Amino acid sequence: MIKANNPDRKSWIPVSKDSDFPIQNIPFGIFKTHTTGPAVGSRIGNTVINLAEVANQGYFDGLKLPDKTVFQKSRLNEFIGLGKSVTNAVRDRIAELFDEKNTDAKNDKELISQALHDADDVEMLMPVEVGDYTDFYSSEEHARNVGTMFRDPDNALLPNWKHLPVGYHGRSSSIVVSGTNIHRPKGQTKPADSDQPVFGPCKLFDFELEMAFVTGKKTGLGESVTTGEAENHIFGLVLFNDLSARDIQKWEYQPLGPFLAKSFGSVISPWIVTLEAFEPFRTDGPQQKPEVMDYLKFQGKKSYDITLDVFLQPENSQEHRVCRSNFKYLYWNMAQQLAHQTVNGCNINVGDMYASGTISGPERESFGSMLEISWKGTNPLKLPNGEERKFIQDNDSIIMRGFAQNDKIRIGFGESRTKILPAK
Ligand code: CA
Repeated sequence: MIKANNPDRKSWIPVSKDSDFPIQNIPFGIFKTHTTGPAVGSRIGNTVINLAEVANQGYFDGLKLPDKTVFQKSRLNEFIGLGKSVTNAVRDRIAELFDEKNTDAKNDKELISQALHDADDVEMLMPVEVGDYTDFYSSEEHARNVGTMFRDPDNALLPNWKHLPVGYHGRSSSIVVSGTNIHRPKGQTKPADSDQPVFGPCKLFDFELEMAFVTGKKTGLGESVTTGEAENHIFGLVLFNDLSARDIQKWEYQPLGPFLAKSFGSVISPWIVTLEAFEPFRTDGPQQKPEVMDYLKFQGKKSYDITLDVFLQPENSQEHRVCRSNFKYLYWNMAQQLAHQTVNGCNINVGDMYASGTISGPERESFGSMLEISWKGTNPLKLPNGEERKFIQDNDSIIMRGFAQNDKIRIGFGESRTKILPAK
């Protein structure tokens, strides 16, 4: 068993009951303060741990690290690339160091003063340099809702949908960390009452509730990753808000798929939570019918029970939850996505990001986009402040949170937050 996952362990760092970051989480991220960093960090409770400083003080001695500078970086790629045998050993060492039974560490004034920061005093940065980015379309409920709205309720899924995890290659340069605000994009749209396209700010601005996994092990050109090997290539997960311009998308997407409607900004949560931390929350995904091809078959529980929430906060108003969904609703699991991505011999790299596609559940309360919640704008969402929303307005903030919980522990991401600014 991974030592860091011991559910009975408690930390000498205070952790509130509803914290996403108990000592069993130990995520990885990149942070800076006004005096230190950027550096690799982890987090327990409301305390950010400077791992470069922990290494400096010798607490990682004996682990198979190439040198201590791997924590003095502005991105996690090099650390992640050391492989799971090293990154899991670092997680275990952090768990031992901050275990309440470790009185030596607890009384180490230099460790406390040099390596620990209040989370409110640090700025979180992009955790990885994203090389390639893929956006899948793996929620059956979402695909059905969109197919029903835009095509044919009787044939909502396209013929390929249950045979392969549909996806497209997206833009990595505009994936940004929580706290980055995004301007409403401008572009071409074609109004329904016009036979000519027009140019201007997007009118149908939307979020998409997604999760993304980050790969931690590269492959060579021509190699394929099997569903059985896939988890060895997946370092961890983030929340992923795939902002979308529905009116731009509608005009541009045929025949090659989404383009400028998606590439103006996607906002992730700053802490990468390792796949290992979610081990206690494995579950079965939906039953797959018809039977999938051999390269997409898998053994065991390959999904995870992770609650996913979206909140909308109008300017000068309270945040209001508009969606509660769950990662386990996804029809295609991560192992299948990675097997499909590489079945043709496409090589992958450390730090690539693979988003799930919008994760919708069966009810309106679990729909993962305004497109679905307002059903193309025909059923506006009522907010507690008396306002209504069909889509996202300027100066609205969108906040995503996610956590897995059992009777002993809660493992979460913190949040992905962005405010939508007027078009430039
Ligand atoms: Ca998407």
